[in-house]
Formats: sequence, C-alpha cells, structure tokens
Amino acid sequence: MESNRFTGSSGEIPAVLVPPTDGPFRHRAARFRDLARSRSSLAGYLNLMAGLAEIQAGLWNDAAAALPLDMAGLPENPAWRATLRSIADRLTPGEPGLASLLNKIRQATDQELAIWGNGVLAGDFDHTDAGITPLVAAALQIHMTSFASRLEKEGLGPTRNDATCPVCGSLPVASVRQTGGAVHGLRYLVCGLCGCEWHRLRIQCTHCGSSKEVAYFAIEGGSDAVKAEGCGDCMTYVKIMDRDKDAAVDPFADDIASLAVDLLMAKEGYRRLGFNPLLVPGG
Ligand SMILES: [Zn+2]
Ligand SMILES: [Zn+2]
Repeated sequence: MESNRFTGSSGEIPAVLVPPTDGPFRHRAARFRDLARSRSSLAGYLNLMAGLAEIQAGLWNDAAAALPLDMAGLPENPAWRATLRSIADRLTPGEPGLASLLNKIRQATDQELAIWGNGVLAGDFDHTDAGITPLVAAALQIHMTSFASRLEKEGLGPTRNDATCPVCGSLPVASVRQTGGAVHGLRYLVCGLCGCEWHRLRIQCTHCGSSKEVAYFAIEGGSDAVKAEGCGDCMTYVKIMDRDKDAAVDPFADDIASLAVDLLMAKEGYRRLGFNPLLVPGG
C-alpha cells in the first residue's frame, strides 16, 4: 500500500502524495485504539474516534461507488448526506451527550446538513455544533479521500508555495517526515479533509516562509515522534510527525493524542496553523 504511493520517476520528488486506494481509515482506527491504551487520560475520546474511523473504513467502498463527485458540491450531494446519516446510525452513543448529537443529525433536514457540510469545508465552525463537526468532517473525509485516492499523480503539482491543500484547498492537520524510498526524510503537509500530502521544506515556516526563528517543541514524556515546529517571526506552529521514529504515526490520531503539545504552544504564545476537524477548538 505505502510503496505504491511512492513509486514515481526515480530521482524526482513527488509534489503530492495521494491517499492509498483502499483508504487510510482502517490503519487510523488501529492507531486510535493503540493510543487510547497508552494515553489513558484521553482514552474515552480516542476510543470514540477509533469507532468513527472504523465506520469510515466500512463506508469506504460505498463512497467509491458514488462517483462522480466534485468536492465543492459535496454537501448538496445525496450520497454525502447518506454517508453522514449512516455514521449517525452506526456510531455507538455511549454517553447521553453523544446520543443527543446523533439524534440531531438523524432529524436534520437536507438543507441543515448542507449548511453544516459547507461550514466545515470552508473551515468555518460557527454554524455547527462543536460536537457534530467531527462527524460532519468524517463524512466529508470519506468522499474527499476516495476522490483524491483516484487522482492521476502525474497531473498533480507543482504545489503552490502556501499552506493550503493543492487538491481541495483545505488547511493541513499536521505535517509528516516521511520514511523510505524517494521521499525519505522529506516533510509533507497532510490535508485535514482529503488526506493528500504535499511537499514543504522542513525548518521553514509553513505560514510565512521564514527560516530564521524556527524552533522545535516537545513534551517531556510524550511521543518522541511528535513535535511542534514553531516560527518566532509570525508565531504560528504546525506539528511534525516523524515516520522514521514511529512508522505507525497517523496525523489525525497522533495529533489528538498530543494535545499537551498544543497546550504548551498556546502557553508560549503560538497560534496553530490549520486544524484537526476531528477535534474542533472549543469542542
Ligand atoms: Zn485536500
Ligand atoms: Zn512564520
């Protein structure tokens, strides 16, 4: 699966890596479960997200069958609404708060679902209940990742020198330092919605491009593979996850498991670039 993504003309760096054709969700679910075992204070949420990723994996083939789809029009698409309603039906309520959120999705009109979907696509979370946003994002991720996994790699890139996904325009959830093959040691930003990864130089601020004041931050006792790359010029940061140190790293799961890094960065006065749609600030 991984090796397939990295085959390209030898000696050239792929500008964009598309998601694997069988999707990232089964691996993500397993990673969430693993992290839930080792991060006991966050176990409840990590296990909930593991269940969500398992549902995403289960709906993967249905999404692939629902072609063709354009990403911007997704919230108006009946296939996407069916996906979101399936998530609400399949997720185990566990606690009363979640049960009422799931009911809210089940009872929502097509128009309400579209408003929520468009809000998350635009990175605007003001019109959606913070508890619902991860579920809306999960439904978007299934279709957008499915779409991205079938893109012709040759037609992608070069990427614009900015922080948004070259395929769907969303902000990154985090960045990864790759291991193996032509991309070994290179840093790629990971899209929070379609799962594409695009190349960006390390030790260079993702937001302003400066390399003068870049510094790395980590939590003592936390994962050795997860750090924050902070820029002292514009005071933004993005997490960087090292697949060489831990090959099982998943940008979404490891991001939530390393919330302590975000708390540290906030204390140091840094603002996060991008967001994890599975954990919305204030949610
Ligand atoms: Zn994207
Ligand atoms: Zn900067």
